[in-house]
Amino acid sequence: MELSQGLITAAYIIAALLFIFSLAGLSKQETAQEGNNFGIAGMAIALYATILDPRVSNVTVILVAMAIGAAIGFRLAKKVEMTEMPELVAILHSFVGLAAVFVGYNSYFEAHSVMSSFTLTDQAQIEQNIHLVEVFLGVFIGAVTFTGSVVAFGKLRGIINSAALMLPHRHKMNLAAGVISFLLMIMFVSDGGSNAALYAMTAIALVFGWHLVASIGGADMPVVVSMLNSYSGWAAAAAGFMLSNDLLIVTGALVGSSGAILSYIMCKAMNRSFISVIAGGFGTEVTVDNDKDYGEHKEVQAEQVAEMLSNAKSVIITPGYGMAVAQAQYPVYELTQKLKAKGIEVRFGIHPVAGRLPGHMNVLLAEAKVSYDIVLGMEDINDDFSDTDVVLVIGANDTVNPAANEDPTSPIAGMPVLEVWNAKNVIVFKRSMNTGYAGVQNPLFFKDNSQMLFGDAKASVDKIVHAL
Ligand code: NDP
Repeated sequence: MELSQGLITAAYIIAALLFIFSLAGLSKQETAQEGNNFGIAGMAIALYATILDPRVSNVTVILVAMAIGAAIGFRLAKKVEMTEMPELVAILHSFVGLAAVFVGYNSYFEAHSVMSSFTLTDQAQIEQNIHLVEVFLGVFIGAVTFTGSVVAFGKLRGIINSAALMLPHRHKMNLAAGVISFLLMIMFVSDGGSNAALYAMTAIALVFGWHLVASIGGADMPVVVSMLNSYSGWAAAAAGFMLSNDLLIVTGALVGSSGAILSYIMCKAMNRSFISVIAGGFGTEVTVDNDKDYGEHKEVQAEQVAEMLSNAKSVIITPGYGMAVAQAQYPVYELTQKLKAKGIEVRFGIHPVAGRLPGHMNVLLAEAKVSYDIVLGMEDINDDFSDTDVVLVIGANDTVNPAANEDPTSPIAGMPVLEVWNAKNVIVFKRSMNTGYAGVQNPLFFKDNSQMLFGDAKASVDKIVHAL
């Protein structure tokens, strides 16, 4: 069975609308599930209409490929831990980039073999030039997205050092890559297609993508992940132009622009320059001095923390990546219930980039049934720390680091942080004195009002709940 062009267009419009509803739903926690369902429905309609397009042959091959892809995707989604989610997203972006490169090469060789065999009219010449620009840009964005995402995957997985790679003249190299690629594009189009120009640009774009992400420091990784999300959208849109598929263009543009907006919001939340981050850390000169002597830290035991909490009137919990690793959100919920039962005010302070993906902490707390009304964003809670008796920093590190405010040369300088040190007592739950994701020491641990509770966060919270 094949669908008429009119029906396909109608199906594409419905799918595009469903994708827009999906994005709207995903913007709020309460409607996120609904948003997901809209997305699934939109994708099902899009696949159905595309496969039944009369231009599509070899449906069996497509169905077999889809079945294999779906089986792998299903297995991965079942297996992946929440803390590994950003890595998965990064590697999936790399596939989108690679696909755009393949679509570009395929579209170029297919059209080139036809066009080069006869003389073109003016109109056909313009069309050919437009097509060549589409191919060139599609391959360029795809290649940058591919290697950039592979490096992001490596950094998030800990296979590649998360610190920024500081090659000498790195900004000049990036600029040179951009300028040479642009000149190659002019050559490519004016020659009516040139294999050498395309190959050279692909090699440059692959190295450029790798270098761009390698030069970005650990603390800016959240922006990088959403930026690569945006690039993968533009790569998909470019593939849509080459394949003359309107829905792919619309969907790519939706992903591209929503990723760009998210990157912008994250840059604002982290007080980072958007241009600086997307240009591979342009304009940032930082030093990491982890040997500086901050003095001695103090240790505390779970039983003492339980006693301190029993005497408190107000408590704020600031969770971070360590809570996710330890899966401590369930005992943390029990702890909040116990404290509430004693008439103690307990709230959560959530940093926008706590954990390893946007909204990570909100998802974990929602999973453990913590009610939304005691979960506050950083801006809403930062002024309240000075009136708080005890702050429990559970597996957070970079997001509560005072160096961001106090040390202008720190890699996290200028990033707004949860100002937990203003509270009367701060208890830090972690396993060692190791640094956080950005790889910088945290002076909070050495402050007079801070005490370290060493051990796995889940085990420590369990002990406190037991003692209470
Ligand atoms: P950090 O990554 O700075 O620190 C987490 C801390 O948790 C570590 O110091 C670690 O110390 C501790 N920890 C790990 N496992 C356990 C455990 N089982 N029990 C107790 N403690 C544990 O966390 P934050 O959430 O404060 O900051 C997030 C960082 O990640 C920021 O730098 C952010 O930029 C970056 N990032 C965020 C992304 C996002 O979208 N949210 C994406 C990518 C990166 P120890 O080893 O001593 O136990």
